[in-house]
Amino acid sequence: MHHSVHAEQFLMANANAHGEPGIRCVAVSSVPCGHCRQFLQEIRGAAEIQILVTSDEDPAFRPLASLLPNPFGPPDLLHKDAPLLLEPHDNELGALEATGVAVGGGGSCNGIRGGGLERRLREAAEGAARSSHAPYSGCAAGFAVADGGGRVYPGSYVESAAYNPSLGPAQAAMVACLAAGGGREGGGWGIVAAALVEKETAAVSHEGTARIFLEAVAPGAHLKVYRFRPSAAV
Ligand SMILES: [Zn+2]
Repeated sequence: MHHSVHAEQFLMANANAHGEPGIRCVAVSSVPCGHCRQFLQEIRGAAEIQILVTSDEDPAFRPLASLLPNPFGPPDLLHKDAPLLLEPHDNELGALEATGVAVGGGGSCNGIRGGGLERRLREAAEGAARSSHAPYSGCAAGFAVADGGGRVYPGSYVESAAYNPSLGPAQAAMVACLAAGGGREGGGWGIVAAALVEKETAAVSHEGTARIFLEAVAPGAHLKVYRFRPSAAV
């Protein structure tokens, strides 16, 4: 259950991955759960996002504020000018200190060396970490998965001011894979390799949960973890 991705989170992660600058309206088949009402607070102007619940007897747009009065969100914890979800982020990662640990993989290790896939996975995960929304912990993180066709799908960590609704980078990468129609070749969702980029000293590390997640959806996949050491200037 910890690894669940709610429909509204899938939508936000997909919009984020495609550089959408904002969300004005959301249509959803059932009324958003409390988790999602909270997650949506990470978007600037969340109170005015118009929600259409298609299963309602008489569907009509209504502002998110009517579903979540007196919200707790980014304004309670962040400076008003801090970038929110869907706004540009350029997180400082520091220098790559250690090329991390390879986990699992077996025979698929050999397969990922061709075509520079290992390098492309690392670069995709690094880019996702730089653009991740992690203002509360400061622990930027990114993940990337590759399918059997050599296509690479990056995912950025997205934090919630309420912490628990946060969307992990591995989940965000799977959102990107599924939204692009990937993961249909081979077994285990077709994922053959993955990379995680995070800070070496991160208080919030995704390695453990990402490994559990990957072992469940793609047990043969090869995972490589890259840790960045914050530079002295940061
Ligand atoms: Zn939900």
